[in-house]
Amino acid sequence: MGAPEIEKLSGPRATTSLVSRASPLASAREQLEVLRRLPLKDFPVELRPAAIDIFQINVGKLCNMTCRHCHVDAGPDRTLEMMSRETIDLCLAALDKTDAKTVDITGGAPELNPHFRYLVDACLARGKHVMDRCNLTVLLTGPCRDLPEWFAARGVEIVCSLPHYRKRNTDIQRGEGTFEKSIAALKRLNTAGYGQGDPRRRLTLVHNPVGAFLAGDQKSMEREWKEGLAANYGVTFDALIALNNMPISRFLEWLQASGNLERYMEVLVNAYNPGTLQGLMCRNTLSVGWDGRLFDCDFNQMLELDARYADGRPAHIRDFEPAKLGERAIVTARHCFGCTAGAGSSCGGAIA
Ligand code: SF4
Ligand code: SF4
Repeated sequence: MGAPEIEKLSGPRATTSLVSRASPLASAREQLEVLRRLPLKDFPVELRPAAIDIFQINVGKLCNMTCRHCHVDAGPDRTLEMMSRETIDLCLAALDKTDAKTVDITGGAPELNPHFRYLVDACLARGKHVMDRCNLTVLLTGPCRDLPEWFAARGVEIVCSLPHYRKRNTDIQRGEGTFEKSIAALKRLNTAGYGQGDPRRRLTLVHNPVGAFLAGDQKSMEREWKEGLAANYGVTFDALIALNNMPISRFLEWLQASGNLERYMEVLVNAYNPGTLQGLMCRNTLSVGWDGRLFDCDFNQMLELDARYADGRPAHIRDFEPAKLGERAIVTARHCFGCTAGAGSSCGGAIA
């Protein structure tokens, strides 16, 4: 699908991509430099990987939305960064060399990759649990309308971003009209059997704060959201995970522009919790970029901090050597405080 069609399908947008505006922050190096210049202490520990349990594949940066907090700088204009069928096949060959139980497919809006369904089916054929990180609104776009039933028939877990169960908070972050579309998509998922306690139709919502503060208590928010969405919209879901916003990409831009950058970083640093270290996603997840480069996590991927073998070679899916990768040191920098603050924050939500 080309960019103009995506443009037509998308609603009013919260912003545009850093790349399309030729913003200095479109450069990963500049983002790291902005964080490095702050008068803060550095991330204090060296992290080492455990066995790969989750194989996370980022199939591209194309998205029908352009949310303000996006750590990917995704949008309708990001048509070039799209995983090819050839790279997907390399991912599958690499997956066969691991004992990973879960394949976590992300983007952008991963469903917009033309090989998305092929990838899902190939992972399922290998007996993997497949998770789709879905922005909800994409399920209302032409080529994706049948996906709720398609996912349900296959037992794919859907992990959906919805910053808040109130319209205003969601639309501020993701663009006017997003909330109504998200509710419509959730209703379609409910109709397909999702969000009603069936382990083969698991529907997880992802909350991230709408502002420069840490995510609240995950359990109490889950209760509040379940009540709010059921009472106001008749929508049900299985679980809610709460993520901190990472101080990179478009959220970093917003922090700078709103004068919140230093204060937010101080909040993250002061809330450093060593109890989160064991559960950090970089320890049990390998992240594959759209071009086959390998990273410790999706955040390092966006900052172009490649995972490296012990001899310094950047790792790529075409020469995937899991045993040697297990000897690497995880690449850390100040953005890592976003994962270790408070209850911690990973792709699976709070850690501690
Ligand atoms: S946050 Fe998600 S839905 Fe929003 S622009 Fe980024 S990838 Fe797309
Ligand atoms: S950003 Fe988080 S997940 Fe990634 S390397 Fe740092 S601590 Fe680990």
